Amino acid sequence: MRQVVMYGPGDVRVEERDDPQIVEPTDAVIRVSATCICGSDLWPYRAAEPVDHQVMGHEYVGVVEQIGSQVRTVSVGDFVVGSFWASDNTCEICRAGYQSHCVHRVPMGMIGTQSELARIPLADGTLVATPGMPDADLVPSLLAASDVLGTGWFAAVAAEAGPGKTVAVVGDGAVGLLAVLAASRLGAERIIAVSRHADRQALAREFGATEIVEERGDAGVDRVKELTDGLGAHSVIEAVGTQEAMMQAIASTRPGGHVGFVGVSHDVAIPGDALFMSGVHLHGGPAPVRQYLPELVQLIWDRTIDPGKVFDLTLPLDQAADGYQAMDERTAIKVLLKP
Ligand SMILES: [Zn+2]
Repeated sequence: MRQVVMYGPGDVRVEERDDPQIVEPTDAVIRVSATCICGSDLWPYRAAEPVDHQVMGHEYVGVVEQIGSQVRTVSVGDFVVGSFWASDNTCEICRAGYQSHCVHRVPMGMIGTQSELARIPLADGTLVATPGMPDADLVPSLLAASDVLGTGWFAAVAAEAGPGKTVAVVGDGAVGLLAVLAASRLGAERIIAVSRHADRQALAREFGATEIVEERGDAGVDRVKELTDGLGAHSVIEAVGTQEAMMQAIASTRPGGHVGFVGVSHDVAIPGDALFMSGVHLHGGPAPVRQYLPELVQLIWDRTIDPGKVFDLTLPLDQAADGYQAMDERTAIKVLLKP
């Protein structure tokens, strides 16, 4: 099969690899219908994380080709969506809704789903079958559920977005934009999107943003405070992962408010005094997407939401390198790869 391998920073190749096999009786093997490049894949691409001949990708939808002897809830031929952490969905942590911290979790990024085929560990716990074969136009949205929609949803839940709340979203990548959609679905009264890019602002408004703030850092905090009678937002979503974004998120939150942080943290150090004096709740980390998948798949299936709009470039898997470059240069919000 063909699979994306990052040889080193900036060096993405597609090469022939052995087809994956069932290893554990709880595994499935899927034929990947669509996969994509994540903002977090850019960290090694930009040498911000070490990388050496790493298989890439952790987002996927596809059709089950093989199942292990103990797999019960998905069958060969099912169209499935899974999250970027394989999880058993039965341990105490999973049952509490934190499947991304499952005691048996397996990171799909180590298996690599930017490929024609993928082995899915813990298939019963990880995969959700759609009600039938999706129409082609639903596939991007189902793929979005695999990570960016589920992550944005968790961020909005962690920030306690809901009726009567003003929500601010720091970050205009796919996760930030879909956090806007999630906050809107959860009933937020006002949604302030922080973005300096006209195309992303337009998509944020389409997903439910009511106001746009273009400033970043302290100036961005000041704008959010101006819009909220000097108090700050009730709920703030951090979807970047940098020091500036995290501090902007905390400072934009009113005392007693909630920060949902899902940007993969890189060299973020929160000063203890700033945290102490803020009086805010912090909750986040790798999103337990599996918790939300059944609900999100249904919303997509019913055409209630259209998160697939974040994909503004589709390329064949063999052109993955062009996709990485487009995301790195921010000429694309999110790149879908078709094996
Ligand atoms: Zn578990």
